[in-house]
Amino acid sequence: MNEKMKKLGSHRSAIRELFEYGKRRKAEIGAENVFDFSIGNPSVPAPEAVKNELIRLLESTDPVALHGYTSAQGDPGVRAAIAEYLNRTYGAGVDANLIYLTAGAAAALTCSLTALLNPGDEVVLPAPFFPEYRVFVERTGAKVVPVACDPATFQPDYAALEAAITAKTRVLLLNSPNNPTGAVIPEPGVQKIAQILSAKQKQFGAPIYLISDEPYRELVWGNAAVPYLTRYYDNTLVCYSFSKSLSLPGERIGYVLVSPKAENAGDVYAAVCGAGRALGFVCAPALFQFLVPKCLGLTADFSVYKKNRELLTTGLRKCGFTVVEPDGAFYLFVKSPEPDANAFAERAKQAELLLVPSDSFGCPGYVRVSYCVSTRQIERSLPAFEKLAKSYGL
Ligand code: PLP
Repeated sequence: MNEKMKKLGSHRSAIRELFEYGKRRKAEIGAENVFDFSIGNPSVPAPEAVKNELIRLLESTDPVALHGYTSAQGDPGVRAAIAEYLNRTYGAGVDANLIYLTAGAAAALTCSLTALLNPGDEVVLPAPFFPEYRVFVERTGAKVVPVACDPATFQPDYAALEAAITAKTRVLLLNSPNNPTGAVIPEPGVQKIAQILSAKQKQFGAPIYLISDEPYRELVWGNAAVPYLTRYYDNTLVCYSFSKSLSLPGERIGYVLVSPKAENAGDVYAAVCGAGRALGFVCAPALFQFLVPKCLGLTADFSVYKKNRELLTTGLRKCGFTVVEPDGAFYLFVKSPEPDANAFAERAKQAELLLVPSDSFGCPGYVRVSYCVSTRQIERSLPAFEKLAKSYGL
């Protein structure tokens, strides 16, 4: 067998490990007594329109067509609807023939990275980052080059990013709104990144691709806005997922698109299709493909997350914890009161608080608190956070 794969399969991610611990602990002491902030599993139902459209599709469509294989890259009508929506909403300038429907953002990312990378290539990643990126990149034989963000804001450190790009850099992977910090890169930041990449491409005489991983695009708070990256940089691929926007993470539906302005866009798209083929990711779940056109632009009710964000940010600050207010997604990144966040997370466990230590996010010394839970869980957990803070003398 492949030893690397055996290792990956025998050791769960820190997030999954804690999630499984939470399940066991809930069985022991009751679900209401465990404050599980481990995983980014949406806690609000999908919009009513999702159910209605699924019923309509099931009742009115020829079942052979509905449940059959679509084209490998997805149904052409669905891809056309996505392109039309993105062009109308963001002026994205995208083309249905350069969209590949996938089983969520995870498959979109593995298709994109497999399409673009060769052994020895480098992928620059602002840290902290979603831990699975490392797994997806390293599978291709390429190397992750983490670049620490500014800890005061969790915005990219632009000078450090620029310095990290070498002749071996093939991809800069961005995730805004960010998991685990909730940071959203504003337009001036995106412009700066586009400038840096353009200059570096020129310097090294080879394309550097920007992959934008956007499962949290619609999850923004206050006045934050998420610029559409194809408008700023030509060599862009966008990975999108309906997991969080429509609360459908278990249904596995998303897409990758190649900007029509990318250098050799047709070849890059062919490589994405080839990667989908090689990875066995042809034909994303058909029923959920056909759901997409009616649900573009809809979201689940995010008001719970908004309320949770406020309650948790205020509550944790009151306890004395250091938190950078997140502009998006549904995560809080909290500074560990002791240097070793694993020890802090273990102590939190004693108070039945399940917090993910940040080492695997490429940024030690923090914990991630996933607040896509019930507001009641947040309210009931605050005394436990207070006790935890007091145990550190905060
Ligand atoms: N990218 C980021 C940043 C995520 O947080 C997640 C899931 O939590 C994914 C990708 C994978 O999303 P999907 O469920 O669509 O595969």
